[in-house]
Amino acid sequence: MGFLSVLSTAHKWIAERTRPGDIVIDATAGGGVDALALAELVGPKGILYAFDIQGDALERTGRRLSALELQGRLPDVRLTLANHAEMKRHVAGGDAGRIAAVMFNLGYLPGGDPSVITEPESTLRALDSALSLLRPGGIMTCVLYPGHPGGDAEAAAVEAWAASLPQSAGQAVLYRQPQREAAPYLIAVERGKS
Ligand code: SAH
Repeated sequence: MGFLSVLSTAHKWIAERTRPGDIVIDATAGGGVDALALAELVGPKGILYAFDIQGDALERTGRRLSALELQGRLPDVRLTLANHAEMKRHVAGGDAGRIAAVMFNLGYLPGGDPSVITEPESTLRALDSALSLLRPGGIMTCVLYPGHPGGDAEAAAVEAWAASLPQSAGQAVLYRQPQREAAPYLIAVERGKS
């Protein structure tokens, strides 16, 4: 049967730590698949922030979420055209430290411009911001794509970032197929409870 895919594992780990009414962030909205799953988890009483630097991605995300709107199951959605490195400026002050989950799915927009990719410098700043926004026990997941040019260096930078996190800040885990070097893999951090 095989192990769960990297993306399904990220969704599972988030679902285990998220309840209806929670506040969640999709740091790379892309086609909106992850945003839809997050929206379903938090439901109409929750809040979903979704970031992307491409308007096209946010439009795709909005269209995907409209299915929930028809059913009255849409959370308060804040689609934000901004670099996720700036996420702290866009998250309402009262929501800081109360975020249940932040999801990163790096790389490029499938079906979009493959030259627009996440970059290590802004990704690392965004990861720091995400960790600081999480509530105690909250989770952030980061799906890495070492198979495209630039993606390998970015994945290595994220791994080094996770390895250097003090254990008091959170617990980091890595989920990867060591036989498939270029396959996507997952790093997650659960914020410390105190
Ligand atoms: N590679 C994944 C999808 C990633 S989509 C897959 O195959 O499923 C990544 C999204 O991140 C793209 O829509 C891209 O526009 C967005 N992005 C790139 N840099 C960003 C940044 N600095 N801040 C926010 N979004 C960014």
